[in-house]
Amino acid sequence: MITRLSHLFLRTLRDDPADAEVPSHKLLVRAGYVRRVAPGVYSWLPLGLRVLRKVEDVVREEMNAIGAQEISLPALLPREPYETTKRWTEYGDGLFRLKDRKGQDYLLGPTHEELFALTVKGEYNSYKDLPVTLYQIQTKYRDEGRPRAGILRGREFIMKDSYSFDLDDEGLKNSYAAHRQAYQRIFDRLGVSYVIVAATSGAMGGSASEEFLADSPVGEDTYVICRESGYAANVEAVVTPAPAARPIEGLPAAVVHDTPDTATIATLVDWANGAGLAEQFGRPVTAADTLKNVIVKLRHPDGKTELLGIGVPGDREIDEKRLGASLEPAEVELLTEADFKENPFLVKGYIGPKALLENGVRYLVDPRVSTGSTWITGADEAGKHIVGLVAGRDFTPDGTIEAAEVRDGDPSPDGAGVLESARGIEIGHIFQLGRKYTDAFDVDVLGENGKPVRLTMGSYGVGVSRMVAVLAEQKHDEKGLRWPREVAPFDVHVVIANKDEGARSGAEALAAQLDAAGLEVLLDDRTASPGVKFKDAELLGMPLIVVVGRGYADGKVEIRDRFAGTAEEIPADTAVEAVVARVRG
Ligand code: ATP
Ligand code: MG
Repeated sequence: MITRLSHLFLRTLRDDPADAEVPSHKLLVRAGYVRRVAPGVYSWLPLGLRVLRKVEDVVREEMNAIGAQEISLPALLPREPYETTKRWTEYGDGLFRLKDRKGQDYLLGPTHEELFALTVKGEYNSYKDLPVTLYQIQTKYRDEGRPRAGILRGREFIMKDSYSFDLDDEGLKNSYAAHRQAYQRIFDRLGVSYVIVAATSGAMGGSASEEFLADSPVGEDTYVICRESGYAANVEAVVTPAPAARPIEGLPAAVVHDTPDTATIATLVDWANGAGLAEQFGRPVTAADTLKNVIVKLRHPDGKTELLGIGVPGDREIDEKRLGASLEPAEVELLTEADFKENPFLVKGYIGPKALLENGVRYLVDPRVSTGSTWITGADEAGKHIVGLVAGRDFTPDGTIEAAEVRDGDPSPDGAGVLESARGIEIGHIFQLGRKYTDAFDVDVLGENGKPVRLTMGSYGVGVSRMVAVLAEQKHDEKGLRWPREVAPFDVHVVIANKDEGARSGAEALAAQLDAAGLEVLLDDRTASPGVKFKDAELLGMPLIVVVGRGYADGKVEIRDRFAGTAEEIPADTAVEAVVARVRG
């Protein structure tokens, strides 16, 4: 069937929407692919829906190819299973919660580990049934704090989520590897440029996890990559190489100094260099010689709060995302004036490890604060610092924490070179979850030896609706959208660019032949001017545009290739063959 622009439910817009910042958002709205209904909630219009369905098809084919079976679970879910796993509360404000007429609690599913675990438990009871992988392509709901960039970060969005169930760790590794390959095939077919990075497991719990990030300057994920070794990791997952422990014997005793007005690292470093420490150190003192102690308040899922001290080298800021990921599921809050009043041992600007440890505040340090390292830090009295405080001798922290910022030039954890940062958009995520959910719901089957076996799970997601925005983001040019063949709403866009009856009937005939050859054809049969039609064709983004215009009288049509940027006049009677060859080629 030929789709005619004169009938298509489509209005293109000349101006960018006022709320749009990134190109994909602007273009998808201007080209009439999506329309905003509420923050992070969008309607799909015909062209957008066609792209979305094509992305779904690629995902579905590759999931089926690894033996995964498609099912569909509700988005409206009862509270109980999420209560069992504590995610009813741990999910925090991100969860859409609602009540039915009887006052029963429900939620709109943000991800479905609970329900898949229960579904498998409901149907299977023998080791012979395993392994099994189930998936769905379904609407998810998350009350995102910052819905952004149209469908890139929605509050309603479509995800392909799959879940593998295996008898043992070996099986889980295989299911994970199969997914990893399927994801590579999906993203390669879609033509996305991406990297695979090591990730933290976040609120999901569990161990091995990797993210697929599409390269994009507008991405919200920062990752680091070591060009020498190819090591790549989400910033949250970067492990700081800890220096080896150094000998403590012979190090001079720590000395408390009067350091008036040195509540900031910069003023402290100035004091140190002015006070002759540079001579003692044999080099200028820098912020990296100081130990900065930051106190935060943790709110645990059970509602309890706890003060936590974090020690980082003074030349580094705390990275909120890394800190948050390290402390999940607890939420991190800043201290209020009231907290300082309640804990008078916390002397702002002069906090040291001693007061924290003496007052029972848990104290975690950056891995660089290793045994035998020496620091200038607060002496827990206003206007006083201590110089030569040795980790492992003068204080023993409760452990280490990955909270300090990662910088370009930091050593790669694999020792192969240095890290460099880049930005990306998360398009897929694979996890070896393990038994967190099967433990919660006692998902056992009878093993070969007659004993129950607890299943182990993997969970895997692809952002299907987000992918539409990612492709728009990566492929567009200054004229408009440009869709890779695999997902373009139509294979070819035929433009009638002349009022003359010959051109019109020639274009109709050409469209009919292309259609008969099995191509999806969009025909611009409107009465608008050629200029308007060309602009729209470029905005809408079909990979091939065939112009039937003035040259038709001389037996010529023009083929424009949006990716190659070429425009070529060819004999009209070879046009079908030429277009088919390009689409299939
Ligand atoms: P992000 O870090 O971007 O918030 P996430 O880690 O919370 O994503 P997952 O729970 O891993 O997301 O979900 C699997 C996939 O679903 C993600 O890789 C992403 O592609 C997609 N996705 C997640 N949140 C959204 C959203 N708000 N809008 C559109 N797609 C999303
Ligand atoms: Mg994720």
